[in-house]
Amino acid sequence: MALLMNIEGIIIGLKSLVCPTCKQIFAAPMVDYLPEMNVMTPMETDLHRVLPDGIVRSSMVAICPNCVYTWWSTSFELSDVDPESLAKAPEVEYSKKFAHAVFTGRKIQAHSIDRAVLALNGYWCARECGAETMRWLTLAAQEFVTALSDEEWYGNRDRFHYLLAETYRLLGDFKNAIKEYGRVQADYAKLPQQLIDQQKTYAMRKWPDPVALDPSFVRIIYFPEEWEKLSANEEDLISVPMNF
Ligand SMILES: [Zn+2]
Repeated sequence: MALLMNIEGIIIGLKSLVCPTCKQIFAAPMVDYLPEMNVMTPMETDLHRVLPDGIVRSSMVAICPNCVYTWWSTSFELSDVDPESLAKAPEVEYSKKFAHAVFTGRKIQAHSIDRAVLALNGYWCARECGAETMRWLTLAAQEFVTALSDEEWYGNRDRFHYLLAETYRLLGDFKNAIKEYGRVQADYAKLPQQLIDQQKTYAMRKWPDPVALDPSFVRIIYFPEEWEKLSANEEDLISVPMNF
């Protein structure tokens, strides 16, 4: 594999991918190694991991140079052909790759929840490279509303109502944000009630900025087993002599 770069331990390599639509084999950058998350991994309350550079998230989607089909890189079949000998995926501005992916999503009639998640990734990617973010949030909100109005769509609706609430808050649409936070059932969303209340309070105070996700919430949301173990051992911890 040709090594492209190492960004704070994240390895991005050049891979040979097969386009599922036109069968063209092409070379595209792809995240080859991403260090595992832990409770101290920087995250934000819209439930994304903060990445150090726009190129990392942009390497999670690939664009076929022949037919412009664009989707998550990991969904492409890999080829053994040396990537150095192949046509390269077109170079577009990092966050714009997500616009191509949303467009492909419409073309292949992917569910609007998939397009909403791509649009949110476009927003995060734009933040990670200092590009304009509002149109991404607007697009994500539209796609979330469409997805959630599909009553036949079966998924974690409460989690997505929370993400829509966060999207509205970041857009500065506090009225809709408060309405959406109110639709989230913490148990179903598998989110701490305290987090939902905290974010609703931010919306009521008209706070549109990104908010860092406290490590205690990261633990509860992403490492629930570890958290349960800790809670169960709480009495043991309290009974440890405090003379060290
Ligand atoms: Zn293609």
